[in-house]
Amino acid sequence: MHKLSPQTLAIHSGTKRSQFNEMSEAIFLTQSFKYETAEQAEDLFLNPKEGKFGYSRYENPTVRMFEERIAAIDKTEDAYATATGMAAVHGALFSILKSGDHLVASRALFGSCLYIIEELLPRFGVKITFVNGTDLDDWESAITTNTKVVFLETISNPTLEIIDLAAVSKIAHRKGALVVVDNVFTTPVFSLASSLGADVIIYSATKHIDGQGRCLGGIICGSKEFIKDLILPFMKHTGGSLSPFNAWIMLKSLETINIRCQAQAESSLKIAKTLEKHPKIQKITYPYLKSYPQYLLAKKQMTRGGTVIAIELLGDKQTAFSFINNLKIISISNNLGDSRSMITHPATTTHQRLSVEQKQHLGITDGLVRLSVGLEDVKDLMVDIRRSLATL
Ligand SMILES: *Cc1c(COP(=O)(O)O)cnc(C)c1O
Repeated sequence: MHKLSPQTLAIHSGTKRSQFNEMSEAIFLTQSFKYETAEQAEDLFLNPKEGKFGYSRYENPTVRMFEERIAAIDKTEDAYATATGMAAVHGALFSILKSGDHLVASRALFGSCLYIIEELLPRFGVKITFVNGTDLDDWESAITTNTKVVFLETISNPTLEIIDLAAVSKIAHRKGALVVVDNVFTTPVFSLASSLGADVIIYSATKHIDGQGRCLGGIICGSKEFIKDLILPFMKHTGGSLSPFNAWIMLKSLETINIRCQAQAESSLKIAKTLEKHPKIQKITYPYLKSYPQYLLAKKQMTRGGTVIAIELLGDKQTAFSFINNLKIISISNNLGDSRSMITHPATTTHQRLSVEQKQHLGITDGLVRLSVGLEDVKDLMVDIRRSLATL
């Protein structure tokens, strides 16, 4: 059979129509669903059925459409949508792990993921080992036959390191561990984590999936069995489910995610290339620049370099603050993947909690800013950046 491309799947898959045969997806803004008879209610509680709904904390038709659409794009068997990206990370890890289990994670993680792994999981008796994500020997020695989960972000935030997902998955699977990937920075567009060996793929839908700065949301993708046996019971009873209204926003957003991400990545590469030799800039990190240390891996693992650029200015914290304060079109905000360009100073915001040593270790210097490139005309963005650099 002819295989549909992700762009087509992002528009059509998962669609469920009511008796009115509406063209665009309906929002089923309802908490619960009416049973015809007491016998039907009894039967549904006893044997949950696909396409039959009881209560929206468990499942909802609009949310289900979003889940099926994401699973189709990501080529996983199933998915479960959550209230936020962090509800997805928390739900995935807490539904898999129990006291005595061992987890290996890369050190360069999103702040809240680090909190769950470093602060919460050990309270419940889970043992943690952190590794340098780009060092395969480090993974090899940390993952043992007792390791239950390997957790990583494929492009790390904010220093944009790439981990060789295929190689890490191979090591993990050889030792019987499950690979859980936070794939936010790579997006569902630039890399198919499932084809590289990831067993569970998590997105903050807040980022590129919405892509227009409106709703929070998250998603856990995996095998049918994993979603049904582990995720559904955990999420159903702990309450981190996605609202149908937010699911509808995400569904509509998926229709344009491909063209949005392609355009944002194209602008990102142009900006990264243009700024690389700028006298006020110490270093530009962007995976599709030839100067990027893991350029070959980036080319192998991703179809584009992503929509985020790390810019290290020549100077200190004050230089970085002046640079971002003098921008006119690019907003100061710590979101990313949005149609509006945004810039942030990680050392004093998203990564403020880290110690001086941890920041140093991760390369989060005072001169570093993280730019999330939006959908504005790239010429206007360049003018904005150049003008601000000139004031330094
Ligand atoms: C934003 C983000 C999250 C958390 O998502 P929320 O929707 O804000 O809860 C998790 N991981 C990464 C890499 C992120 O960028």
